[in-house]
Amino acid sequence: MTLRMYDSIDVAHLPPGADAYAGYVNGAWQTFPALRRLFAQLHLLSIAVSTSADADCLDIEAGDATNSDAPAWVKRQMRRGEPRPCLYTSAGNAAALIATVEGAGIARSQFRLWSAHYGEGKHICGPGACGFPAADGTQWTDTAPGRNGSEIDESVLRDGFFGGSVSLTGPEHWDDKDWQAVSAHGIGLWWLAHAAAGTVTSGMSAQEKANVAAAHKALAGLVPTPAAVAAAVVAALPPAAAGGLTQADVEAAVEAVFARAGQQPSA
Ligand SMILES: [Zn+2]
Repeated sequence: MTLRMYDSIDVAHLPPGADAYAGYVNGAWQTFPALRRLFAQLHLLSIAVSTSADADCLDIEAGDATNSDAPAWVKRQMRRGEPRPCLYTSAGNAAALIATVEGAGIARSQFRLWSAHYGEGKHICGPGACGFPAADGTQWTDTAPGRNGSEIDESVLRDGFFGGSVSLTGPEHWDDKDWQAVSAHGIGLWWLAHAAAGTVTSGMSAQEKANVAAAHKALAGLVPTPAAVAAAVVAALPPAAAGGLTQADVEAAVEAVFARAGQQPSA
C-alpha cells in the first residue's frame, strides 16, 4: 500500500484523485494556500525553498536550500512541533544529505526523505529498487498527465508517510491568519506534541523530561490519544470565523487543556 502525491508550480494543472498534494509556502510559486482551499480534506505537504520559512519539507536542490542548511532547519521544525520533518532532494544527493544530517546528531528515523529520481519508472528509491539510499517517498516522474494537457510531478509515498504522530496541519477551515498564529506559537505546540506523545529528546533537561512524563501521564488520564489531545485544543479555540485566531487565542486554548489535566503548558 502506497500513496500517490501530485505537485506542480501551477495548481490549475493538478487533477483530483490523488491521495496527497504538495506545494510551496515561499519562493516564486506560493501554491500551498491554494492547495488548502482545493484539497483541504487530503494529505498536504508544505514545502519551504529556503530556511527562512517553516514547513513540513525543505527543498534541497540547486538554487534552493543546501545540504548544510538541513540540520538546523530540521531541528527548528522539531522544536516547532513537526513530528518528522521532510527533506526533498535528488536521489544522487541523498547519500551526502543523509550523512550531513546524521552527522549533526539527527537519526534517519527522525526525518523523512523525499527523493527525486526520474527515468527508472514508478518506484521508491532504495538499495533493492534503484541502488540509491532508501527514501520515504520518491518523485519518480515530472511528466505525469495533468489537467488541460499539462505535465505534472508525481510521487509515490510509503503508506505511513503522513501518519504516526500528532498532526499540526489541521483543521480544514482555518484561514491564512489562523495558520500564522498557530505557527507563531511554536513553543506551545512543541510542548503539547511531546507531552501528548510522551516523547523526550536528547536536548531536554532532566527537569523538562520529568515535566513531559508528568504531563503525559495526566493527559493520558484526561484524553486517551495524542489525536484526542490535539482535538481538545482545537475545541478550546474560539471560532475561526470571528476574524482570525491570534497567538493569544492559541496560547489560551493550550493552557485551558493543560489546566484541565492539572499541568502548566511550559517546561
Ligand atoms: Zn530511485
